[in-house]
Amino acid sequence: MLSLDHHFRVIPHHRRRSGILDEWAEYSMQAIELIPFRPDCNVSSEVVNVKAVLNRDMSDLLPYVKGELGAVKYFPHGPHIKFVFKGHPVTVFRDYFAMGGFADGDAACACARELLGLLQDIERRKDRITPDATPHNPPTVLDVFKLLPRKTGCSQCGHQTCLALATALTREEAVPTACPRMDPESLAGLKALLGV
Ligand code: SF4
Repeated sequence: MLSLDHHFRVIPHHRRRSGILDEWAEYSMQAIELIPFRPDCNVSSEVVNVKAVLNRDMSDLLPYVKGELGAVKYFPHGPHIKFVFKGHPVTVFRDYFAMGGFADGDAACACARELLGLLQDIERRKDRITPDATPHNPPTVLDVFKLLPRKTGCSQCGHQTCLALATALTREEAVPTACPRMDPESLAGLKALLGV
C-alpha cells in the first residue's frame, strides 16, 4: 500500500481531535482524527495540509467515488484515488485521506469535514451509483516530453533537463506550470494529457 506517512509532520498533540466526532457517529465511515500538518519537504512553507484518519477500510467505496465524481484518477494498486476538491488536491487511501494547499489548520479541517460529508453521502447512496474502477493510465515520459519546449539545460523549472521535468510530471511530482517557457497552447495540451 502506498503510504504518505513519512511525509507527515504532525502538529502538536493538543491540536489534534481524538475520538470519533459526534456529528459523524451515525455513519459507518467516520473520521477518528483530523491532523493538520506542514509538508516535511518544505518546513518554511506557509501552506498547511490535513490528514483525516478514518475508522474503516474504504477500498470498496473508491470506485463509487470515481463513478459519482467522474474526474477521479483510480489506482488499483493500493488502492487509492486522486482528485481535486474545491481547488485542493486530494488523495484517498484505504483508511485515511489527505488534502493540501490551505492557509491555516482551521481552513484545512473545515474542508476535510466537507469532503468527509461528501464521502459519507456517496456511501449512503452507493446502491444508486455505478462504480467505475477504470485504472488511471498515466501518459508516458516521451508523450509529456514532446509537449515541453525541449530547451535542455535552462533549468528554470527546477529540473536540469526537460526530460527530468517530464519524468516528474508523469510521477505527479511536479505541475505543468513548472516550466515558465511553455506557450499557452502547449500548456493546455499538457494539462489535458495529464488530466489536471
Ligand atoms: S524550464 Fe522548461 S525548457 Fe527549461 S529545462 Fe525546464 S522544462 Fe525544459
